[in-house]
Order: sequence, then C-alpha cells, then structure tokens
Amino acid sequence: MKQCVYCLRKAKKMTKDHVFPKSWYPRNTPKQIERWTVPSCYSCNQKFKEIEEDLKLRIGLTLAPDDFNALGIADDVRRSYDPSCARNKKDADNRKMKKEKILKNFIREASLENKRFMPNFGPQRSGKIKVYSMVEISPESVRRIGGKIILGAYYKILGKLVESDMSLDIYTDDAGADDFESLMSKYGKKNYFGPGINLVTAIPADEKSAFVAKVTIWGRFIFRGFVLTQ
Ligand SMILES: [Zn+2]
Repeated sequence: MKQCVYCLRKAKKMTKDHVFPKSWYPRNTPKQIERWTVPSCYSCNQKFKEIEEDLKLRIGLTLAPDDFNALGIADDVRRSYDPSCARNKKDADNRKMKKEKILKNFIREASLENKRFMPNFGPQRSGKIKVYSMVEISPESVRRIGGKIILGAYYKILGKLVESDMSLDIYTDDAGADDFESLMSKYGKKNYFGPGINLVTAIPADEKSAFVAKVTIWGRFIFRGFVLTQ
C-alpha cells in the first residue's frame, strides 16, 4: 500500500503530483532542473490541479510578459482565453467562455480605499490611472496550495510524511517575518528550481519546529510555511 503525501490516505494506486505545479515553471527554467513529484492520490491530484490553474490565471493576469522570473506565464494565461489560439471550434468556445468569466471576475474601482492587497501585488505606480483593475485571489486557495507545496517539500527533503499529529501553518503576510528571516539566515538551505521558483528551507535546532520554508514564485508570490511537532 502506498500513501498520499497530502491526505495520508492509503491506496494500491497512486499518481505522481508535481510539488510545484508543472505549468508554473517559467519558459526559461533550465531543462536539467529536477521537477519534484510526490506520491498523491488521484483525488488530491485533481483537486489541487484545479486550484493551481485558477491561481495561475489570477496571478498571471498581474504579471508582466517580459518578467524574467515569470517568463511565459503571462503569455500562457493570455493564450488560455484567446479564441484565436484554439485548435478547433469546441476549444474556441471554451476559451471564449473562459474570457467572459475572467472579465466578470475583474473588479474596476476608481478608488483603492479600504482595499487589501496580497503582499507584493499592490497598485502599480502611475499618476494617470483613473480606474483600477483588480482581480480577487482567495486566501483559502493560497493556503491550500501553499500547504500542499510545504507537505511535498517536507517529504522530498526529509523523506517522511507530515503525520496527522503535527501541524502546518501557512503565512502570506509579514507576521513574524523578522524572526523567520533570522532563522533562515542561520539554518536556511536554498533549493534551486530555476528563476521562477525559489525555496529556502530550514530544520531548526529547537524541537518544536520540525521544518520551516519560504517559497517565492515568480519573484512576487511569496509565502512561508511552518511544520510543527506537537
Ligand atoms: Zn490524497
């Protein structure tokens, strides 16, 4: 029996899930980079895939096409809803529907009062903007995919599972960032996955925190994860 790294369910058959979603690696990622995969049940694999695609779409809409850390991501996203890139009629219709859905998701506001932004994704500096375009990103989606990536990284680095009596926390804000950075400078180890995906991990000497990690995607989407033993 094999075990799913994410939900810990056991089954005879497992799929392989990419710890960092396959479609999140920018075009300029060196070929020889190992793209981590872990054993995952079919249900986790499918569930995460959906959220990963949605996050890529929403974040990708805010990325510049020539951003070195995200080369090809903004393009991928634009093409995914461009009917002129379709292979056939059905594909074209799907892309058209997707485009309409995206347009509905956009929020256009003349003022940014009381709006909260994900760190690193604030309004662009320009004196000429009269209406701001915004796209909503669900904190729950970020927490779930962030958690998934940390569980996968833990498994790849330590060769074991985060058991159900351990806890996992994901932070996207700056809460506790200073303590975290000092921990990282002392114990941190960089894991290189090309220009778009950056992972720094540490196994601190104190016994409560089993594993800490900072993930930077496309130079802007940043989160930190803590795995704690109870
Ligand atoms: Zn699972």
